[in-house]
Amino acid sequence: MKMEPENLKKSLEKINGLIKKAAASCGRDTDTIRLVAASKTIPAPTVRKAIEAGITILGENYIQEAGKKFDMLSSCPVSWHFIGHLQSNKAKYAVRLFDLIHSVDSLKLAMQLNKQAQKINKVQQILIQINISGESTKSGIYKDNAFELTKNISGLENLSVKGLMAMPPYFSDPEKVRPYFSAVRSLRDLIKKENIQNIDMNELSMGMTGDFEVAIEEGATLVRIGTAIFGKRD
Ligand SMILES: *Cc1c(COP(=O)(O)O)cnc(C)c1O
Repeated sequence: MKMEPENLKKSLEKINGLIKKAAASCGRDTDTIRLVAASKTIPAPTVRKAIEAGITILGENYIQEAGKKFDMLSSCPVSWHFIGHLQSNKAKYAVRLFDLIHSVDSLKLAMQLNKQAQKINKVQQILIQINISGESTKSGIYKDNAFELTKNISGLENLSVKGLMAMPPYFSDPEKVRPYFSAVRSLRDLIKKENIQNIDMNELSMGMTGDFEVAIEEGATLVRIGTAIFGKRD
């Protein structure tokens, strides 16, 4: 599907309206919710148009693809987030490109990111990705191990944990996803209560095109939306 600037503007207006409405329905301030445009497979010129239409955060899934786009869009006023699965051997590139990495799910990866961030004198902001459905095929750390991982990461000086991220299973009825979102939020609250030094638990990255309104009602602060902005991916 080809996205013209006019269409992009319209879809963004629509999404922002829905975010506002969902926030209002549960008494939240819209300003506490940020839209991450999930731009995987979307070519740089289209991404540029989305930025011109008001997108301020891009979420990319693949290091190589993101690196190419980054070079083409380096003059654009936009923040880059990594939302895909990250292999430890790509940590070096990830810390150079991204302001926030949503998908840290092992100590091994965290240690690599810490090491690479240290080399460039950066404190890398990260989220811990939770495998909230417990399916063995999914990325993310199991709920029961999240506290220990967070605690271990708190000792790494060049990482700063900002919260949790999750990708629940897909259901056509977004109400079916609500218990998963709610479980992520409870886990966040639980970890937050422990007041681990050097750990911030204010961000909840959850909600995509099909379920972002429910995610907002359950406390999402970062919604990652692709299809509703750019149209169906090839
Ligand atoms: C692609 C992707 C999204 C966006 O999905 P849509 O259904 O197109 O909105 C969100 N999060 C992650 C991790 C993704 O890979």
